[in-house]
Amino acid sequence: MAVVVVVGAGTGGLTAAITLRKGLAREHEVAVVEREMVQGFYPSLLWVLEGRRTPKDITRSLDAVRRRGITLVHDTVQDVDMVRRLVKCEREQVPYDFLVLAPGADHAPERVPGLVDAPAHPMASGSARTPGPVFNLFSIEGILGLRGALETAERGDILVVAPAGPYKCPPVPVETAMILDRVLRRAGKRKRFSISVFSPETLPFEAAGTAVGRTAVQAMARREVSYHGDWHLESVDRDRRVAVFTEGRVAYDILVFIPPIRVPDFVKQAGLSSGKDEFVRVDPHYLSLSTVDNPRGGEDRVFAIGDVTNIPMPRGGSIPKSGAVAHLQSLVVAGNIAALVRGKAPRRRFSGLAMCVVEMGDLPPVTIVGNFFSQSRDFRVLPRLRAFITVKQLVERNWLRERQ
Ligand SMILES: Cc1cc2nc3c(=O)[nH]c(=O)nc-3n(C[C@H](O)[C@H](O)[C@H](O)COP(=O)(O)OP(=O)(O)OC[C@H]3O[C@@H](n4cnc5c(N)ncnc54)[C@H](O)[C@@H]3O)c2cc1C
Repeated sequence: MAVVVVVGAGTGGLTAAITLRKGLAREHEVAVVEREMVQGFYPSLLWVLEGRRTPKDITRSLDAVRRRGITLVHDTVQDVDMVRRLVKCEREQVPYDFLVLAPGADHAPERVPGLVDAPAHPMASGSARTPGPVFNLFSIEGILGLRGALETAERGDILVVAPAGPYKCPPVPVETAMILDRVLRRAGKRKRFSISVFSPETLPFEAAGTAVGRTAVQAMARREVSYHGDWHLESVDRDRRVAVFTEGRVAYDILVFIPPIRVPDFVKQAGLSSGKDEFVRVDPHYLSLSTVDNPRGGEDRVFAIGDVTNIPMPRGGSIPKSGAVAHLQSLVVAGNIAALVRGKAPRRRFSGLAMCVVEMGDLPPVTIVGNFFSQSRDFRVLPRLRAFITVKQLVERNWLRERQ
């Protein structure tokens, strides 16, 4: 009998666990260790901002996981002992034969003085509202607060700010700005607001190439949303309502920020982080720790997927931290572990292929496909069809169904 343990029941982790459960005979155990019992479908947070979804629509309790024959360990991981094959949690120790690390990345607003505190988990805060006018886009609190502020404000300058360093879902600043445009347009007061995106990226979504970035900037210009590339946020002076960038100071009435991120503490504690950003280096295709230059034993049974990883791209930079990538990687790792448990060779590889639908408010989305491992080629921009939004709706429906 083999025991497969997955750390994290978010986008990548839970899919890995469900896929493993389906692929392995019942004599084998699949367990998930997760600190938060309530999970949410993050991409739909922007639809909560628009009023198309409520927090309840997009959140689910993990209780349902148990009905699928998966052992749920509600605990916080503090360390991993790869020699003794033990996941050490606050309350218990969980032994494993194979381990999938999918703890994502923790939000770190404290890295920028003046940003509001974020809850440990984006969906943790129920329905409380942040009063603002500085809002964390990656939390229900922040989204509900921002929605309230948009309802009551009559005019003003809105800044959407991406942090320096890696952050989750690189297209999200553009999507947010364009959704703000739609919300204000529908309320009949768009003309009295300016909407600007400030980002350290020269063009939006640099990992996908310049053609994608130019298409996004052109679409934003059609809605009078300005894009300021190569701006690096240093702090927020909340008394004066000024965002302080290395490049200059910008006054705001409403500031929406995407939080900086950091690797979860236990990853560092276990000695699994490396490089300047401290995220986990894995084999880019098998997502195992085994080919990494790491002298300890046991790495061949440990895999890492999703936001916790740093996978360099051949043309520079790293593969973006996105749910789409975490999902695809989870299928690769689950398939390979199932093969290993059956004594077969692991044959699945993460190819780097990805598709992304970037919402553009009331304009058709920018849908892109490409390969993050391609040496030179930019992602391709597909025809601008509204129908691509249904892809997102289907992914959401599937996410919710998996947690029913
Ligand atoms: C507002 C928003 C919009 C987004 N939109 C999109 C989009 O449109 N498309 C897209 O592809 N991506 C999007 N993303 C990004 C996407 O959600 C993440 O990249 C994805 O969730 C990463 O998956 P993951 O499995 O690596 O980590 P997560 O989904 O973050 O899951 C990690 C889990 O591990 C748990 N965990 C962490 N540490 C511990 C510990 N020590 N002990 C126990 N449990 C632990 C956490 O509680 C969490 O549940 C968006 C993100 C946000 C916040």
